Amino acid sequence: MHQHSGGEKKEMRVLVALGGNAILQRGQKGNAAEQRENVQKTVTQIVKMISAGHEVVVTHGNGPQVGAILIQNELGSSSVPAMPMDVCGAESQGLIGYMFSQSFHNTLAAEGIHTHEPVCLITQVQVDPSDPAFAHPTKPVGPFYTEEAAKKRMSSTGETWIDDAGRGWRRVVPSPDPKSIVEKDVINSLLEKGFIVIASGGGGIPVIRKQDGTYQGVEAVIDKDLAGERLAAAVNADLLMILTDVPRVAIHYNSPNQKWLENMTVSEMEQLEKEGHFKAGSMGPKVRAALRFVRNGGDRAVIASLEEAIEALEGKAGTQIHKS
Ligand code: ADP
Ligand code: MG
Repeated sequence: MHQHSGGEKKEMRVLVALGGNAILQRGQKGNAAEQRENVQKTVTQIVKMISAGHEVVVTHGNGPQVGAILIQNELGSSSVPAMPMDVCGAESQGLIGYMFSQSFHNTLAAEGIHTHEPVCLITQVQVDPSDPAFAHPTKPVGPFYTEEAAKKRMSSTGETWIDDAGRGWRRVVPSPDPKSIVEKDVINSLLEKGFIVIASGGGGIPVIRKQDGTYQGVEAVIDKDLAGERLAAAVNADLLMILTDVPRVAIHYNSPNQKWLENMTVSEMEQLEKEGHFKAGSMGPKVRAALRFVRNGGDRAVIASLEEAIEALEGKAGTQIHKS
């Protein structure tokens, strides 16, 4: 894929999938200043990779941001029309992508790197309309309602709302498996020209392709790690790097027998996955994405903390997953 640059060091094309903590820390309110500050710290980490000669493609989550946009739409709907979920997803990609883009510009300039420029791409991700997820919505989104209000809403819209762990009623939407990145040719052209591409934010905007070849947005949410794997494959990345808020993947997570995993093979990881060590909706999709990437021919995947990004890239931190 990419050339050795003399020496032993190999420059890689790295797909960096950023978790929620890269943009908003747990417990923060989510105002613009906080998000800018977190994004700045994240970008500082990524620019270290660029300085080391690696090529990066960035993707990120959007849970709190799209959640806020959905609430703003709800509350404002008596004055201005509320937008559907796919449009809200696009808005969140713009919001987050803008912050990353500006932060990259500023940081690269400060570091004296003039060879790379960031570009944020609004990205659609194709899903299969016959994906079983559409019959079983599982992903909670947007505001909390009272039971009464939720039930009224369900009967008038056909939406699914559930009692979310006693915290109130919340809408749930399907989380279908991503199939392909609609803009993948554009992304590859941008990479060829040396741009730092920020794409598929929030798992991408879920779209279906109709018989006549047209695309249409759907009310659903795609897992950003699974979409990140599709993006990694689409750009022929050497490394899929999933950065989150824990240093490694664990077995018996959060129990007295907890053990962090360091170097793992695909088959070892598959065995632990079968034993149920990786929670659905958090670590589960990260492990699935990592396994898919390596099984589909990727060199290596790593799940690590944002703080240890460089060490993880060098194979010295995180849970490293190899073919064998
Ligand atoms: P992100 O925003 O990075 O996608 P998630 O909350 O979805 O973050 O996933 C990371 C979380 O997964 C960790 O904070 C941890 O609490 C949880 N988790 C669940 N199972 C495991 C496990 N087996 N090993 C490590 N972390 C786990
Ligand atoms: Mg997650």
